[in-house]
Amino acid sequence: MSTPSFASLTTLRVGGTPADIVECTTAEALAATVARLDAAGTPLIIVGGGSNLLVAEGALDLTAVLVRNTGISLVDDITLRIQAGTVWDNVVAFAVEHGLGGIEALSGIPGSAGATPVQNVGAYGSEIADVLTRVRLYNRETETDEWVPASSLDLAYRYSNLKFTSRAVVLEIELELEKTEQSIPLRHLGGERVSLAEARESVLETRRAKGMVLDSADHDTWSAGSFFTNPVVPAALADDIEAIVGEDRMPRFAAGDGQVKLSAAWLIERAGCHRGFPGEDAPARLSTKHTLALTNRGAATADDIAALARRVQGVVEKQFGVELHPEPVWVGL
Ligand SMILES: Cc1cc2nc3c(=O)[nH]c(=O)nc-3n(C[C@H](O)[C@H](O)[C@H](O)COP(=O)(O)OP(=O)(O)OC[C@H]3O[C@@H](n4cnc5c(N)ncnc54)[C@H](O)[C@@H]3O)c2cc1C
Repeated sequence: MSTPSFASLTTLRVGGTPADIVECTTAEALAATVARLDAAGTPLIIVGGGSNLLVAEGALDLTAVLVRNTGISLVDDITLRIQAGTVWDNVVAFAVEHGLGGIEALSGIPGSAGATPVQNVGAYGSEIADVLTRVRLYNRETETDEWVPASSLDLAYRYSNLKFTSRAVVLEIELELEKTEQSIPLRHLGGERVSLAEARESVLETRRAKGMVLDSADHDTWSAGSFFTNPVVPAALADDIEAIVGEDRMPRFAAGDGQVKLSAAWLIERAGCHRGFPGEDAPARLSTKHTLALTNRGAATADDIAALARRVQGVVEKQFGVELHPEPVWVGL
């Protein structure tokens, strides 16, 4: 049987073929596999759901280590211990069914539980950092398998010290939730609190309308979700942009130290990159539902996605002097 390509391992559905694939169904096998490959000097990439990965085409000199250890257990009334390969949305469903609140706004985020700390996943005003207490890591530098506190990961907006560094592999995570019937205040409902089940449904519905829930029949979801992080810029630059665009209400959020966080989607749109950009014939286009998602319309390659990303970055930089940074991890490009 031929080795599956990254086109079948990632949600962008692009990318070439790894030299080898190892599927790990226990935390111990995952740690041991990475230790063995590291000892042999074999380049590797950890792959969960492949929903935040843009991998180059062709024959790739690396081994794909698939995180496939699954399982959710209740440590006590409010603490969940989750194997890294568990589908994240199954964790949210489990919590909601057990009357545990804190992650309902993270419904529908694709990928594995083990990847959630990597970029501190977040949505609708919630992020994993709110509930993550500790993480079982295989540390590739010290070759140790140990539980570490979430505070050691430098979790910040779409960032942790695991992202882009590959320094450690998440084997399991632990979340402390809250026994409750009510959701956290939901940003997309104007801060309203509803039942956990209603919150989950409403988040899923809102996400679906934006192409942010995986659906193989919908090319708007052949993406890596938001392709750029929201840029943080000096307040003076934000003022200039507001003046150039001439709209009363530019989305802007204080980010401390005279800095302001802007909306990448808003900047992309105001720079003239509309939904579906650059147009009908392009194999890679902005989603027709959300300007922040770069999508594969069926025949795109990794180079098409990367070229579109660079084009959008160039337009926004030229128009507003703001550099957009990709959110997904790029491999070999
Ligand atoms: C339609 C869509 C919507 C999305 N919406 C959101 C959203 O609302 N909020 C958000 O934050 N993200 C969102 N994303 C991005 C993505 O779903 C998350 O980043 C998710 O956590 C990635 O999980 P994964 O298992 O697919 O990781 P992968 O894509 O497999 O890997 C991503 C990176 O993490 C590393 N990695 C994966 N697993 C581990 C592990 N166990 N240990 C160490 N490193 C690991 C990989 O090596 C890689 O560098 C969305 C993506 C899509 C396609």
